[in-house]
Amino acid sequence: MSTGIRLVTPEVWSGQVFDGRWRKAASTISVLEPATGEVLGIVGASEVTALDAIAERALAAQRGWAATPAEERAAIMRHAADLLDRERGEIINLIMRETGGVRGKAETELNGTIGELIHSAALLIAPEGQVLAHPDPSKLSIARRVPLGLVGVITPWNFPMLLAMRSVAPALALGNAVLLKPDPQTSMVGGALLARLFEEAGVPAGVFSVLNGGADIGEGLIALPAVRLVTFTGSTAVGRRVGELASRNLKKVALELGGKSPFIVLDDADLEAAASAGAWGSFLHQGQICMASGRHIVHRKVVDDYLDILTRKAEQLKVGDPFRTEGVAIGPIINSKQLARVDEIVHSSVAAGARLLTGGVSQGPFYRPTVLAGVNPQVPAYHLEIFGPVAPVVVAEDEEDAIRIANDTEYGLSSAVQTGALERGLRVAARINAGMVHINDQTISDLPGIPFGGMGQSGNGSRFGSTTNWEEFTQWRWMTAGATPARYPF
Ligand code: NAD
Repeated sequence: MSTGIRLVTPEVWSGQVFDGRWRKAASTISVLEPATGEVLGIVGASEVTALDAIAERALAAQRGWAATPAEERAAIMRHAADLLDRERGEIINLIMRETGGVRGKAETELNGTIGELIHSAALLIAPEGQVLAHPDPSKLSIARRVPLGLVGVITPWNFPMLLAMRSVAPALALGNAVLLKPDPQTSMVGGALLARLFEEAGVPAGVFSVLNGGADIGEGLIALPAVRLVTFTGSTAVGRRVGELASRNLKKVALELGGKSPFIVLDDADLEAAASAGAWGSFLHQGQICMASGRHIVHRKVVDDYLDILTRKAEQLKVGDPFRTEGVAIGPIINSKQLARVDEIVHSSVAAGARLLTGGVSQGPFYRPTVLAGVNPQVPAYHLEIFGPVAPVVVAEDEEDAIRIANDTEYGLSSAVQTGALERGLRVAARINAGMVHINDQTISDLPGIPFGGMGQSGNGSRFGSTTNWEEFTQWRWMTAGATPARYPF
C-alpha cells in the first residue's frame, strides 16, 4: 500500500545539505557507481564553518525531543521502519548501485536497518533506572538514565545505511539529537535517504542532521563542544585519530573498527559445509566487511581437501555488475585505490611464499575471488586486513596451534570454529580473543539485539545493540527528593 511518501528522491537532495531543512550547498559531492564509474547522484557538501550553527540548532531541538513522551518517539521510529519497508524495491536498487553489492546484501542491509528501528522503539520498555537506598528513609533516591544531548555518528561505505542506523535509531529513540556524517562515497543511502526518512517519519526539524564530507567535516564534528558522544565505525587507523580527538575534547567515544577474524576448521569438521561457510565469510560483499573471515586456519590433516573444495567454490562464483547482470555473486570493489591495495597484498604475499590457487586478477573494478595457500606470518596476507575477496589459508598442526594462530593478531572482532563435536567447539571458542564467536558457522553475523563489538584493536570495548544501547546512548543522573526542606546546622 502506498503512502504517497517517497524517500528515494534525488530531486530533493541533489546539491543540497540537510540540517532540519534542505539547503542549497555552495559546493557538491558526486557519488559514483562503483560498477560503472558513472555519477549516480550528487549531494551538497557541508562546510566546516557552518557546523557550530548546526550544532546549536540541534541542541535547541533536542530539548523538546527529550521532553516528548517516549511512546511518541517510539511511534516515530516504528513509522520510519514502516516507510522503509514500503519503498523496499527502490531502496534495495539504490543500495546495490551505490555500494556495489548483490541483491541479497542490499536486502540484508535494509532488513537490518528496519530491525534497528523496531528494536529502538522497544527500548522504552526497559526500566529507566533504579531506586536506591538512602540513609534518610524519608528521602527518595533515584538513579536514572538521561539522554546525552547531541550524538555524532561517523560511518563507512560498506553497509552505510545499517551502520548509520545502529547508532542513529537508539540515539534518537532515547531522546538525543544526532549529527550523522556518512562516508562521501555513499552519501545517499548513508545520509540523504535517512534525512528524507526522518523528515517524513515526523522527527522534529533539527533533531537529525546530515553532514556531508570527508575527514575535515568528521574532525569538525568531533571538535563540537555540544557533541557528547561520537560513535565511529571505520578503520583502526582513523579510529585512533577519532579517539584522540574525542579525548582531547573530553567526550565519550564508541569505536567499531577493523578486523582479521579467524575461521578455524578442525580435523573433524564437515569439509563441504566448512568450505561453503569459509567462502561466504571471505567473499561476501567482495570481502569488504569488518567481520570477514580474514584467516582460514585449517588442521593439517584436512587442509588439502579443504583447499580443493574452497578453490572449486571460488572458481564457480560469477563476477560482475550485480545490478545489471543476473547471478552475480561478486560485485565491484568500492574504488580503484582499494582495488590496487587488494592486488598488492595478494601479489606481495605470493612473492613472500604464499601459493595462489585461484584469482589474483582484476577486470575493471572487479576482483576474482582469490585463495592463497601456505600463508604464514612472513606473508602480508597473514597480518593485514585485506577488505577484498581473498581467503588466506594457514595450516594449524593441531587444536592448540589453531587457537594460537587465531589469537596471533592485534584485532579481535569476530571468529568461528568448524567441528563435528560441539564440546570441542565450545572449548576452542572460549579461548579465542574476540567480541563474537560462532560455532559451526562463519564470522559474518549481526542482529539488532546482540552486543555487537570487538576486542583489542577492533574497538574500545563499546557495544552496539539493544542489549547495550541504554548504556551507550544515555548517561546516569542521581536525583533525591524529600517531602520537607532539609535542615542544616548552618
Ligand atoms: P575509514 O576509517 O577510512 O572511514 C570511515 C569514516 O571516517 C568515513 O566516514 C570517513 O569519511 C571518516 N573519516 C576519515 N578520516 C577521518 C578523520 N580524520 N576524522 C573523522 N572522520 C574521518 O574506513 P572505511 O575505509 O570507510 O571502512 C573500512 C574500515 O571500516 C575497515 O577497516 C573495516 O573493518 C571497518 N569497519 C568496521 C566495522 C565494525 O563494526 N567494527 C563495520 C564496518 C567497517
